[in-house]
Amino acid sequence: MQNKQLNISYQVFQSMDELPAEWSSLLQKAVEATERSYAPFSNFNVGAAILLDNGQVVCGSNQENAAFPSGLCAERSACYYAGATWPGAKMLAIAIAAKQDGKLTATPTYPCGACRQALVQYESRGGVPMKVIVGSAGRVEVFSSVRDLLPFVFDNLDDNQGK
Ligand SMILES: [Zn+2]
Repeated sequence: MQNKQLNISYQVFQSMDELPAEWSSLLQKAVEATERSYAPFSNFNVGAAILLDNGQVVCGSNQENAAFPSGLCAERSACYYAGATWPGAKMLAIAIAAKQDGKLTATPTYPCGACRQALVQYESRGGVPMKVIVGSAGRVEVFSSVRDLLPFVFDNLDDNQGK
């Protein structure tokens, strides 16, 4: 038997103003995308913005539905739209922000497990790390790869298919 340990490192900025300009403008687009969210059930409006290696920024927002499982998170609405529109483009970074009752959340809102799985697969396809920038009214956290948020990813298909 062995005990093993995982370590991740990430950056914490005290506010959006501290972020390098490139990431703060992507995060600003995620904040704007919260305005296009449809969340009548939760009143929790999430926005995501993905920077592609072709320079495009693709935004998504959560879209809820009365048939609950039919809704979709902001992160997946963004990465699926990006994948469907620019299938060869690499996703370099995703920024995420959320508002509750119209105000930016005080702490970061991380992607859910299903979105982590979807994002990590695009990261594998692209072959480059996808930064994850998670904003809030308070601090902003920057992770250098989606894999840092989902170390034990389901990717057994990656060796043969799916790339
Ligand atoms: Zn999600």
